[in-house]
Amino acid sequence: KRISKGLDGKGNVIVSVRVRPDLGSNNKPEGEWMVDGRKSLIAYRGREGGDYFYDNVFTTHDDNSRVYDHIAKRLVRRVMEGYHGTVFAYGMTGTGKTFSMQGTASSPGVIPLAITDIFSYIRETPSREFLLRVSYLEIYNERIHDLLSMSSGNGVGGNAQEEIKLREDSKRGVYATPLKEEIVQSPTQLLRVIARGDQARRTASTQFNARSSRSHAVVQIVVESRERIPGGSGGESKRSGMPPGGVRVSTLSLIDLAGSEKAAETKERRAEGSHINKSLLTLGTVISKLSEHKEKDAKGGDKDGKHLPYRDSKLTRLLQGALSGNSLVSILCTIQTGSAGSAATANSHATETINTLKFASRAK
Ligand code: ADP
Ligand code: MG
Repeated sequence: KRISKGLDGKGNVIVSVRVRPDLGSNNKPEGEWMVDGRKSLIAYRGREGGDYFYDNVFTTHDDNSRVYDHIAKRLVRRVMEGYHGTVFAYGMTGTGKTFSMQGTASSPGVIPLAITDIFSYIRETPSREFLLRVSYLEIYNERIHDLLSMSSGNGVGGNAQEEIKLREDSKRGVYATPLKEEIVQSPTQLLRVIARGDQARRTASTQFNARSSRSHAVVQIVVESRERIPGGSGGESKRSGMPPGGVRVSTLSLIDLAGSEKAAETKERRAEGSHINKSLLTLGTVISKLSEHKEKDAKGGDKDGKHLPYRDSKLTRLLQGALSGNSLVSILCTIQTGSAGSAATANSHATETINTLKFASRAK
C-alpha cells in the first residue's frame, strides 16, 4: 500500500514512522526488518510480513531536528496562520515517543522546536498581534487531570482535584473545564510552564508506577492573532473592538500518547488497559474514518462527521475540533526493530511493531 500525501498536497494527515536505535547492537539490527528511509519503506520478512510505505520513514540515523522538520515544521507554521494542527506520537512504551516529543537538552524534540518556530514566526510577523495560551493535561483511565494546577503532593492521585469535564460550545468547540491556561510571552516562559507540567506528571507517576506510560499527555497551545491597526498603539482603540480581518484562533496540540502495547496479564492492569485501548482504539477508528471520508468527499459524498465516534473516548472528544474539518494532523509512529532479549520477547515485540505499522497504515 503506497501512502504518499503530505501537508503540501491535498492530504491533511501525514503519517511517519521512526525506528529507534537498537541500543547495544551497533545500529545494524533489522534481521527480518528492512528500513529504507529514502523510499519511506519498512518491510518485514517474518510472519505476517509485508511492505509498509509512509510519508516519512526515519532510520536510526535521523535526529530529532530532522524528524521535526519533516513532521511538524510546516504544520506549526500553518497553525500560526490560523489552522488547527495536531502532532501525535504513537507506539509501544520504550520506542521513543517522549524522546521524539520532548527530546533532550542537546537534542530538543518536537515540543521545544515548535516553540522556537512559534516565536520566530511572531517576530517575523509584525503586522499581527499575537496572544498565546498554553494548557497541559493528562488523560489517565479516561479521566482528565490538569498538570498545571497540580501542586506538589496535592492532587497527583487525581482525587484532590476537581473533576475536569469536557464541554462544548459553538465558539470554542470542545474544551476541558476547569483547566488552567497560562498566558505566555516568551519561549523560556512557555518551556518553563511545560516543564512544570512534566514535573507534575513525573510526581504522579512515582506514586503509581508506570502511570506515565499508560496516560496520554496533551500540550495545547492556543494561538490568537489579529491585524495590528496602523497608528493606534492600543490596538482596538479605533472602531468598536473588532479589528479589520477579525481575530484568528487556532490550536496546536502536541500529544505523547499512552504506550500502545497490550495491557499485561494482571486484572488490575487489564482494567486500566481497557481504558487505554479505548482511547487509542477510538483514535485509530476516527483517524481511519476521516481518511475514508476524505475519499468520499473527493467523489462528492457526505461530508459531516456524524458517523465518527468522537464521543467514545475522552481523547477523541477533546480533539474533535482538531481532528475534523481543515485541520492538520501528523502522526509519528515509533518502533524498535531490534531483536534484543529472548526469542519470545523479540517475537511479541515484532507483533506489537506490526500492530503499530498497521495503525499507521489505517490512518491513511
Ligand atoms: P517512550 O516515551 O515511547 O516510552 P522513550 O522516549 O522514553 O520511550 O525512549 C526510551 C529510551 O530510549 C530513552 O532512554 C530514550 O532516551 C531512548 N531513545 C528513544 N529513541 C531514541 C533515539 N531515536 N535515539 C536515541 N535514544 C533514543
Ligand atoms: Mg514516554
